[in-house]
Amino acid sequence: MALPTQIDPRKLAAQGIALEGEFATKDLTRLNDSVEAVSGALKASLQFSLDESRQSMVTGKASVCVDLVCQRCLDLVNVEVNAAIALQVVWSEDHIANVAPDYEPWIVVDKIADLNVVIEDEVLLALPIVNYHKIEECTGSAFNSKADANLEETAIDSPFSVLQQLKR
Ligand SMILES: [Zn+2]
Repeated sequence: MALPTQIDPRKLAAQGIALEGEFATKDLTRLNDSVEAVSGALKASLQFSLDESRQSMVTGKASVCVDLVCQRCLDLVNVEVNAAIALQVVWSEDHIANVAPDYEPWIVVDKIADLNVVIEDEVLLALPIVNYHKIEECTGSAFNSKADANLEETAIDSPFSVLQQLKR
């Protein structure tokens, strides 16, 4: 099911609506620009609700598979990015200080907001900074774990340990 991109989050919260579905890749321009390829729809399951002080909250999760560059072999690696969603809808930046602990502010100035944009934000924040294949799946043999370990050893070797090796 396609998720709506334009919603009234306060109304959905007042009604206690749950949304589950997908955003099409074409609606995720910034994510497209941030990765080599978005290899599937962004799936999200979201619960809109009011907390005890009648603040509009959105909780749930989002996930998407993307192709990123493996820093070891420079080939593409397919990564599933998972983001936990915990948002509190606020009218302006003035209200950010009142956001509940463990929630992030979602500033919605008008009635209608772009759901795909805020969920895309959360996924972008969850993108791993460096990416590697699993060792056994990586073709970057020049930089495999053994070579890395040797490199580290060399780096921390003192001149004395080198002498000891020569004596052996
Ligand atoms: Zn690799």
